Amino acid sequence: MPDIIQLLADNVANQIAAGEVVQRPASVVKELLENSVDAGAKLIQLVVKESGKTLIQVSDDGCGMSETDARMAFERHATSKIRKAEDIFSIITKGFRGEALASIAAVAQVEIKTRRPEDELGTQLKIAASRVEKQEFCNCPVGTQFEVRHLFYNIPARRNFLKSDAVELRHIIDEFERVALAHPECEFHFEHNQSEIFRLPASGLRQRIVGIFGKRYREKLVPVNEDTELVRLQGFVGKPEFAKKTRGEQFSFVNHRFIRNAYLHKAVQKGFEELLPEGYHPSYFLFLEIDPARIDVNIHPTKTEVKFEDDRAVFTIIRTAIKHALGQYNISPSLDFEHDAKFAPPPSNGPVPPPGITVNPYFNPFEEEARKKAGGPPPRPVSRDSQNWEALLSQVPEMGGNRQIQADLDASEDQKSPDTKRKFVQIARKYLLAPHGDGLLLLHQNRAHQRILYEKILRSMSNRNIPSQQLLFPQSLHFKASDWALLQEMLPRLREMGFDLEPGGEGELLVQALPLYLDNPPLQKLFEELLEGEKDHQDYQANEAQEKMARVMAKVAALRSGTVLEPEAMQSLMDELFACETPYFSPEGKATLVQLKAQDIDAYFS
Ligand code: ADP
Ligand code: MG
Repeated sequence: MPDIIQLLADNVANQIAAGEVVQRPASVVKELLENSVDAGAKLIQLVVKESGKTLIQVSDDGCGMSETDARMAFERHATSKIRKAEDIFSIITKGFRGEALASIAAVAQVEIKTRRPEDELGTQLKIAASRVEKQEFCNCPVGTQFEVRHLFYNIPARRNFLKSDAVELRHIIDEFERVALAHPECEFHFEHNQSEIFRLPASGLRQRIVGIFGKRYREKLVPVNEDTELVRLQGFVGKPEFAKKTRGEQFSFVNHRFIRNAYLHKAVQKGFEELLPEGYHPSYFLFLEIDPARIDVNIHPTKTEVKFEDDRAVFTIIRTAIKHALGQYNISPSLDFEHDAKFAPPPSNGPVPPPGITVNPYFNPFEEEARKKAGGPPPRPVSRDSQNWEALLSQVPEMGGNRQIQADLDASEDQKSPDTKRKFVQIARKYLLAPHGDGLLLLHQNRAHQRILYEKILRSMSNRNIPSQQLLFPQSLHFKASDWALLQEMLPRLREMGFDLEPGGEGELLVQALPLYLDNPPLQKLFEELLEGEKDHQDYQANEAQEKMARVMAKVAALRSGTVLEPEAMQSLMDELFACETPYFSPEGKATLVQLKAQDIDAYFS
């Protein structure tokens, strides 16, 4: 038998190896941006077309390359950043493997113009699928300009594997944000399909964060500063009241390199202990500087993971630094959070047995107010039997369910004399109180309305018959780039729900009509909440995503606590609530009403 082993041709080997470095347009963006940073650039400009599928261009005013270096740069394992293996233990640049350019040139059409300050003429190079097609002198500014066209043009399988433009753009934005956050001292511009996504002047970190994530961040940030022998920790954490249920704005950098590290995330979470309810994640932008010899960043080809030699010590330092920072800013655990629902949201289809209702005689809606004012600890469930009072609600019905309550109310309606016309009283602008049987009914106006809206929204969605109302003047809303990309994906679903939406400029959404059941909601907030929900639910099934959207819409559009209600409004709230399938709970599973019986009232006077 003849020998069968052969060496792969260089370009084939390069293509295969490229798979490790270049997964998608965002990988190219990351490598080129990092090279520019390593080249000492003060201004870096990124221009992208069609989410990087047709063009990715990065221009910098960095050190540039000589003619020979420009050629060398595209060889595999060609790097100016390390000379010997030990050097990787003291690496401070982003790159050092010398693989990025070789990989990119293997799977795209690349053109580069580069000039060093000391050279009069620059070098122009064209490479496609690892083959040099052109090399000549050229006129160009000091620095380097890369153009990467038609990524994966020679590997159709990989090109087909790319996701929608919106998804690919979001990945690019993610990479851009990471590099831009790590280098606020550098000016960045980012343009996509000829509209500007970011223009970030050189600044400090705080301004950089605000530049990327928006002005709202100005009041959100608490500085963190800790200098120990082992690490230097700097940056910001978001105040606990701005924490979200979704992960996303969590950035940690080790020696200015973005890294993911579950352990580090945990340390931050621990620093927030007791300040955050279960399931909430703080935002953070943290920079660790640590002797490169004491970490290992080379355990992953794209280098977003890191191992610390003294990981316990690092953990403690981070946790303590954050506790300290939050303490200094006087953030006490008395913040008012909407606690997670104890109940799973009730299923929306199929008959739901009405949960029974019973009462906690010590439940006092005013206590909540007093507690908030006094800044005391979060409310503990109170109950005569020292059982969880929410659990009591779900016990055996003491009353015959909602139909029974409604019947009772109707009965008292019949008996009502002309002078008892006002059956409902509003208390503290958030509860409705009505005499009921030999007791009282207390209704939470906001949650009750959420329930009503939620069921309306779900009903009209399943009927596919969603009446909408045209806005007199279309409203224009603005979104940061990554949210904008996500919104593009949500548009078809939102239209199905009765919104008439058109994209305006980049990041701009024109709202022309709303589903009828949304009565003048705060639109920007509504869409921001929908986006949050979407981030939370990206991998869920379609119907769950719809329920989630309905919950979000109900929550944003519902009557607020603090809204004064006319008697008619109170009446219709009550009527509509009892027409619901699941009147006792808000869509998030919180109680909408409680009943106080005479004997319970007696307990207050015993
Ligand atoms: P690495 O960054 O790991 O060294 P790359 O393949 O990304 O490997 O780059 C190879 C070399 O090309 C770098 O070491 C650097 O010397 C040079 N280079 C790349 N991009 C630039 C740039 N924008 N300006 C100057 N030199 C660059
Ligand atoms: Mg590099």
